[in-house]
Amino acid sequence: MPAITNHLPTAELQALDAAHHMHPFTANTELAETGTKVITRADGVYLHDSDGNKILDGMAGLWCVNIGYGRNELADAAARQMRELPYYNTFFKTTHVPAIALAKKIAELAPGDLNHVFFAGSGSEANDTNIRMVRHYWALKGKPNKSIIISRKNAYHGSSVGSGSLGGMAPMHAQGGLPIPDILHINQPNWWAEGGGMDRDAFGLARAQELEEAILEHGEDRIAAFIAEPIQGAGGVIVPPDTYWPEIQRICDKYEILLIADEVICGFGRTGNWFGTQTVGIKPHIMTIAKGLSSGYQPIGGSVVCDEVAEVIGSDEFNHGYTYSGHPVASAVALENLRILEEEDVVGHVQNVAGPALAETWHGLSDHPLVGETTLVGMMASLALTPHKESRAKFAMDAGTAGFMCRERSFANNLIMRHVYDRMVVSPPLVMTPEDITELGKRARTALDECYAQLKEHDMLKPAD
Ligand code: PMP
Repeated sequence: MPAITNHLPTAELQALDAAHHMHPFTANTELAETGTKVITRADGVYLHDSDGNKILDGMAGLWCVNIGYGRNELADAAARQMRELPYYNTFFKTTHVPAIALAKKIAELAPGDLNHVFFAGSGSEANDTNIRMVRHYWALKGKPNKSIIISRKNAYHGSSVGSGSLGGMAPMHAQGGLPIPDILHINQPNWWAEGGGMDRDAFGLARAQELEEAILEHGEDRIAAFIAEPIQGAGGVIVPPDTYWPEIQRICDKYEILLIADEVICGFGRTGNWFGTQTVGIKPHIMTIAKGLSSGYQPIGGSVVCDEVAEVIGSDEFNHGYTYSGHPVASAVALENLRILEEEDVVGHVQNVAGPALAETWHGLSDHPLVGETTLVGMMASLALTPHKESRAKFAMDAGTAGFMCRERSFANNLIMRHVYDRMVVSPPLVMTPEDITELGKRARTALDECYAQLKEHDMLKPAD
């Protein structure tokens, strides 16, 4: 058996993959039959596969490769750190320079008094930390019954037992005994799909007020926290009506509910500010971070915690932590990534160049016969596929059928664009140039055209009743 390298033929790599590798969120038996795409290398905003295709990455990996691929500075930072101190833990009264420096940098960048960082290896782990931290916070304040965390349907907060419970993904809850106790889910502010005849603003207000209704129903003395993504990402890039967040903030303040902003996607520039909370104008007690913290070059996440919560938690031993909390190599790489974001003013680029270019390109797709709402904030965007724009109709077939077809056409045209049911989403590297974005728009339109032709040919353009 020759060594397994990029030089093996695609079919051999696929067969080996099918034999031994279980993929996340995948029916592996079916995948084994259809074969997977083998990504061999990447540079800038392009991926290369084993068949020689050069693919424009409209998803920045999984919403994370914000500075693009191939930045040697990050590779060098990792190599330097591996030689100096590849690993040490931060338990048992020890620490190290990368964790110290990264925590300080994050505290500087984070708004308000979010001055303390509890590190994790991923967004899921960080949200597990949050569950334990907010419940323990209230217990330390003499209110152990304040243990319910309110989240939202169609939210994504991770895939561990805790974070998957926080999330509101019905297909995830259907497997493995989720959710854990004392997690509630209210409805999401998805006007396009669920707003019916209400106008956007009234709908946003009504959806926010579901939080107040839940608090009143269960009692203020039972509710620990509310968690939400500033802009829902994996749920389909759902941009809430402008009325939504101010009302949520009012309710959290009124009932003394801790507000957790899950910034795993929104954080580090994606929305045109350092954090999504700044874009939507809220003041969380805790922010979850991961992905863009290291631009995905190393697995790292964390909870950024305000002074008061950190002080209360610090008054007792918090029986929680991960072997890789504050991993020195991941921390060194994240620091280098943040240096690049700052020195190259990547957030300014999103606000002034890439964000406006994507807005123009993306909204330009709204004249397409298959496209309903087009929506975006900064460099995260989505569009709704519909058989009938005016009535915002769904298709008269299983949700996601059209979306999947469109994604397949997109991949065939060498653009990574994802679907969430029948919404198409992009979340490109923040460093895309206007030319890259024009190319993304062209390929997306071709995918839409081909999908439309297929739907028409198979008489699949019927609206649901
Ligand atoms: N929170 C949000 C908002 C996310 O989008 C994700 C991942 N898509 C997570 C948490 C979980 O992060 P991870 O996959 O790193 O565990």
